[in-house]
Amino acid sequence: MQVGLKVKRFDPTDSGGKTWWQEYEVDVHPDSTVLDALIQVREHVDGTLAMRCACRASICGSCGMKVNGNAKLVCKTRVVSLSPNGEQLIIEPMGNHHVVRDLVITLDTFFDQINRVEPYLQPSFVPEHGEYVVSNESMENLLKSMNCIMCGCCVSDCTVLEVDSNFIGPAAFAKAWRFTEDPRDSKRDERLKALNDEDGGIWDCTRCLKCVEVCPKGVDPMDLIMELRESAIEAGNTNTHGYHHTESFYKSVKKNGRLDETRLAIDSAGWTNIPRLLDLAPIGLAAMRRGKLPPLIPHKSEDHKKVRELYDSVEGESK
Ligand code: SF4
Ligand code: SF4
Repeated sequence: MQVGLKVKRFDPTDSGGKTWWQEYEVDVHPDSTVLDALIQVREHVDGTLAMRCACRASICGSCGMKVNGNAKLVCKTRVVSLSPNGEQLIIEPMGNHHVVRDLVITLDTFFDQINRVEPYLQPSFVPEHGEYVVSNESMENLLKSMNCIMCGCCVSDCTVLEVDSNFIGPAAFAKAWRFTEDPRDSKRDERLKALNDEDGGIWDCTRCLKCVEVCPKGVDPMDLIMELRESAIEAGNTNTHGYHHTESFYKSVKKNGRLDETRLAIDSAGWTNIPRLLDLAPIGLAAMRRGKLPPLIPHKSEDHKKVRELYDSVEGESK
């Protein structure tokens, strides 16, 4: 089959950096991957196209790129899955990374984020003889995070990193989760406190699900971030806007069967945090002008008793 590729090129040596789009047409076998198609271009059409790949078996994590706007390992992505009738594929380097040339990025930012979470075991003691033996179950629990191949796809498409480069990032949180769950580590509380308190920490994730969608290894970083939030709260870290937001949400839905948006905004800011409350004032005024201000005294939903029963049932089950 024939497929068209539109590739974003970048030459750092051309007057301080030149970016352009280049189109190619190649014949590929119906079972070919996007990586096969790109290699065909490089070997038979245009030897100047720069890309990175190694294992070709979705193990090394080298060939992450954006295809049609989403980060993918191109060695794992078949052409027909995205282009059943030879439609043109748009291929770009991954986002939120520094581009070196064409489709090649550096992982400097990625590893800076990983290093922020101290990605190594910190046991309280080292056994004098033999190994530190732990249960199979506790190791199996870690497998999800340990499946990470450091490809950077989740970082590429993280919507928070696009606007806040200080965010710790999905892969680093998945790594942090692994050490908070490892029974050999002695720094769980300190780790949770740091992830909770730090600027760019766990409460800055917007739960957009993008990292879950693009992770080629099923690590589901967002789910692990949510577990980190729960663990941080259980460990007594309740001093954040994120925690106040969660608590207010929980209480207002339980009480009224619906969200009390006015109270949510004030609770999240903190009732004594005057500067933050003043920041909210223009938003409130704008909402009022457009008739969008939520009622100051919330209406109860007709089904609020049913909602309360649901809460009771779920909370009863978890006891
Ligand atoms: S769910 Fe959170 S960490 Fe994952 S991509 Fe969205 S904002 Fe980033
Ligand atoms: S969590 Fe998934 S997407 Fe992110 S670096 Fe690891 S394997 Fe890649």
